[in-house]
Amino acid sequence: MIEAFKGENEILFKDKFATKEACMSYLAAYRWKNGFECPHCKGTEESNCTILYHKRCKKCNYIVSATANTLFHKVKFGLEKAFLIIFKMSATTKSISAEQLAKNVGINRKTALLFQQKVRVSMKSSEKYPLKGCVEVDEAFIGEQETGAVGRGAVKKSQIVVAIEKNGGKGTKRMYVKKIENASSEQLKPFFEKHISTDAKVMTDKWSGYFPLKKEFQIDQQKSKPKENFKVMHRGIQQLKSWIRGIHHSVNPDYLQGYLNEFCYRINRSIFKESIFDNLLNRMMLAEPCAKNQIKFVYCN
Ligand SMILES: [Zn+2]
Repeated sequence: MIEAFKGENEILFKDKFATKEACMSYLAAYRWKNGFECPHCKGTEESNCTILYHKRCKKCNYIVSATANTLFHKVKFGLEKAFLIIFKMSATTKSISAEQLAKNVGINRKTALLFQQKVRVSMKSSEKYPLKGCVEVDEAFIGEQETGAVGRGAVKKSQIVVAIEKNGGKGTKRMYVKKIENASSEQLKPFFEKHISTDAKVMTDKWSGYFPLKKEFQIDQQKSKPKENFKVMHRGIQQLKSWIRGIHHSVNPDYLQGYLNEFCYRINRSIFKESIFDNLLNRMMLAEPCAKNQIKFVYCN
C-alpha cells in the first residue's frame, strides 16, 4: 500500500523523501500497485529477487527495476533531487525557473532544464476531459521581440490559441493553450477537437478562421471590445505572459509548448492541490522515457 504524499508543505516533503531509499520504495509501490507484469514476456508471476526495489520474472528470469522504462530511468543526480523538482513544479503556485532550481537543488542549469522538460512531458493533457459549459477562445502572441530587430524574420514571437472554461462567468475554471503556426482553420480545428466539447457554448471574436468550425461546434462570434467582453480570456492571457516573463524570462520557441502545458496543468488542478504531487509522479511513472532530441516533438503531438 502506498501512503500517498499530500499537501504543499515543503518541510514535510523533504522529511518524507530525504533518502534515495524512501523515493525508490515509493516508486516501487506505484509501479507494482496492481501486481507484477514482466515487460519482457508479460508473465505475471515473480520469483525471489535479492536486489532491492527490483523484481524477477518467474517465467523468463528477467530482472526489472522499479524505475525501468519510466521517466525516472537513469536520473543521475539522485532521486531525492528529482522528487524535490517535481514537488516544486506541482505543489507551488508558480513553479520555478531552471536557474533557480539549479541553485536550490545543487545541480547545473542544463541538467535542471532537461529534467524540467521531461517533467513537462507528463504534464501534457490526457485529452480525456474537453472543456465544457461556457468557453472563450482567442489567439495571442507570446515571447520577446528581439532588441533592435528590424523586419519580420527577426521577431521571436510565437502565436498561440487559448481556450478557457469559465467558472460561473467570473474566473478561469480550466484552460488549454497550444502553439500554432498561424490562425487558420486548419490549425484551429485539431485544437478544438482535442480540447473543447461539441456541447460547449464557445465564444470567439469575429476572426474568419472560426467560420468553418461552426459545423461541428456551437460558436458565437462577437466583436472584441477591450475592457467590455472577453475579460476572463484577457486576464488568462496576461497571467500566462507574466508567468513566462517573470519566472522563466525567455523561452526557446521549440520548447514553448512544454511551458504552456505546465501552466495549464497547474491551473486545471488548482482544486486538487492536495494530491497534485502524487498525480504528477504517477504520470511520470506511466510516461515512456523519451530521448532529449524527441522532447519538443512529444510536446506538440
Ligand atoms: Zn518475463
